[in-house]
Amino acid sequence: MTMIDFNQIKGFICDMDGVIYYGNELLPGVREFIDWLYREDKAFLFLTNSSAKTPRELSQKLAYLGLDVSEDHFYTSALATARFLKQQSPECTVYPIGGVGLINAIYAEGLAVDEVDPDYVVVGESQSYTLDTVTQATNMVLNGAKLIGTNSDVSGPIEQGIMPGCGALVAPIEMATGKKAYFCGKPNPLMMRTGLRLLGCHSDEAVMVGDRMDTDVISGLESGMATALVLSGVTDRETIETFAYRPTAVLAGVGEIVTRAEAAKA
Ligand SMILES: [Mg+2]
Repeated sequence: MTMIDFNQIKGFICDMDGVIYYGNELLPGVREFIDWLYREDKAFLFLTNSSAKTPRELSQKLAYLGLDVSEDHFYTSALATARFLKQQSPECTVYPIGGVGLINAIYAEGLAVDEVDPDYVVVGESQSYTLDTVTQATNMVLNGAKLIGTNSDVSGPIEQGIMPGCGALVAPIEMATGKKAYFCGKPNPLMMRTGLRLLGCHSDEAVMVGDRMDTDVISGLESGMATALVLSGVTDRETIETFAYRPTAVLAGVGEIVTRAEAAKA
């Protein structure tokens, strides 16, 4: 297996759930990893497929866990989606069904919201998702609006079990209209490419760190980055073997990036 010399890597794109925290628990080695990123002057982005929260809210979430990471280090599928729309059609109008993270991202790109005849219907995780909003969105798509999902995750963990994710929330609109949504979040490599641009890194200078083969590793791989799978989340060693591709490195957790980097220097 190819080795990564983490000292040579300029930029790190890190998934969060299962990498930095698991639910509301900080994972071991994370504090050391973040200290090391700052100390070694590495460029880094913490990335999430969820579109519900703003970078400021994510920064606050880490602050509650005792980590000091400023807003500009966070990248969400909401930001990727808004950037994508801006690049595709700078003057477009949007009907969003989503949380504050999505709404803020749309306004931050200077896009306008249209609740009658928008160019795009954009669906993210939402507390305001109702039969009414879905019905409205369905008719907008039938009238020619393009259907976008922030991410294709079908479910996400909550305390009492799971809740339907963006992929599941889009499904009724897809079924009713016969149109398929385009999803901007992982595993779409679009999100990694924009992330690399934000970091100012070329793909061969960066590594994607994540806990899922079917989103993190595949999107890093397809963007030409080295990939590090951490076993601190949902994937175990046996699961890795069931995929047609494999990560560049398999690590117990992000703390191992620091110990490996220091060992390589010694
Ligand atoms: Mg994860």
